[in-house]
Amino acid sequence: MTLKLYNTYSRKVEELVPSNPDGVIRMYCCGPTVYNFAHIGNLRTYVFEDVLRKTIKRAGFALKHAMNITDVGHLTSDADEGDDKMVLAAEKEHKSVMDIARYYEDTFFKHTKALNIDRPDVVCRATEHVQDMIKFVEKLEEKGFAYFSNGNVYFDTAKFPAYGALSGQRRDDLRHGARVEEDENKRNSSDFVLWFTVSKFKNQILQWDTKWGRGYPGWHIECSTMSVKHLGEHLDIHCGGVDHIAVHHENEIAQSEAYLGHKWCECWMHGEFLQMKNDEKMSKSKGNFITLDTLIEKGYQPEAYRYLCLTSHYRSPLVFSYENLDASASALKNLYAKYLELKDAEKVSATDEQKALLAKYLEQFDGFLFDDLKTPQALALVWTVLKDKNLPAELKLEFLNSADKVLSLGLEKAQKEEKTEVVLSDDVKAKLEERKLARQNKDWAKSDAIRDELAAQGIIVKDLPGNAYEVIKQ
Ligand code: AMP
Ligand code: ZN
Repeated sequence: MTLKLYNTYSRKVEELVPSNPDGVIRMYCCGPTVYNFAHIGNLRTYVFEDVLRKTIKRAGFALKHAMNITDVGHLTSDADEGDDKMVLAAEKEHKSVMDIARYYEDTFFKHTKALNIDRPDVVCRATEHVQDMIKFVEKLEEKGFAYFSNGNVYFDTAKFPAYGALSGQRRDDLRHGARVEEDENKRNSSDFVLWFTVSKFKNQILQWDTKWGRGYPGWHIECSTMSVKHLGEHLDIHCGGVDHIAVHHENEIAQSEAYLGHKWCECWMHGEFLQMKNDEKMSKSKGNFITLDTLIEKGYQPEAYRYLCLTSHYRSPLVFSYENLDASASALKNLYAKYLELKDAEKVSATDEQKALLAKYLEQFDGFLFDDLKTPQALALVWTVLKDKNLPAELKLEFLNSADKVLSLGLEKAQKEEKTEVVLSDDVKAKLEERKLARQNKDWAKSDAIRDELAAQGIIVKDLPGNAYEVIKQ
């Protein structure tokens, strides 16, 4: 089966064909700016990229996946205006820029792990690649794509005729309507800074010496530099959120292709936004963002949020509400219950017809994923399979285990949770034994009284068939 993905550049769904002779798919994803917590909107994009990563492998490709950590140079606006986000955060929190960066980077990986998102093969920090960036900018200057103007080095977008092709805008239109005053040092309004030595704004804490003077890199240059360094000259897939299309990714294409002298990336993929109910964009700068910890504090399992992400296609906006999250949490709970039930079911040997039915379902599941990651359909199929009376428990379980390699809803955790022993005091244990005896003797009044007494202590006893019981601590 072929894997087809939507390419923002061509505006078409295209078959994934490796562009390097070794057949390894090279994928680069724009990573987090670590000046604050990633919000659940950012995490939606990383869930999409994780599904993509796992689907590529499921389709039989070898994969090398790299992601950057922006720990310098991302200004408060995606264009070149504003202050460095890291510096602002450091000032606000009275910590060093590096302390801030490492703290939020660690938290980012804690959150992605909780969502069962695999760590990319290469995680590269901008601050550890500044010398590479300087060399990259020097080469752009040598090739005539960059110019020095009043202290800063700019990319000359007029030298790159394809500028604007990704977002479908003409170069001249790209920066019209900008919110802030134009930088008079630019030759063209869509030009952007590759290296700052002079900033109209506050001095940056992190600075490096170069032939242009002491300064710091523009934000866009890090992705081109690190991608070429870690993944080579021919990239198969580049991902990010839709907000990156118009400025950041246009700039990345211009820099990389000017530097390499040939086409750089085959397929551009973008995740749509997670929106708040009132149509608002969830953004760090607006301060209206919800983190994964907020959801955990409210009692949601991280996988409930992953489930919610999977209910909508990555190219459709997803509106966040607690009602939607509740629906996903309850579906996840039912899925876990089904999974545990199937695990406990009696094993019977499957007929050839039943095996063929399983194969058909697995093929359908792959068919949805391989058709531009249709996760809502894949998820719906899971429930169809679970309801199918013609498929025995063992084969349903096989289907679920296979599906969860990509959906990653933590079915294994459901298994572990059931096995987790509730720690009970000797007193409570004695009461439980007393109740068991009362039930054996059909002394319902006594057994009910003990159950109520335990419930008052937050210990819930759930009776199961055959005089067995389950204890839940609240
Ligand atoms: P940042 O840390 O702001 O550079 O963003 C990290 C990733 O999250 C990028 O790929 C962004 O495009 C993406 N992103 C930002 N806001 C949202 C949102 N509300 N919903 C989905 N993805 C987002
Ligand atoms: Zn990037």
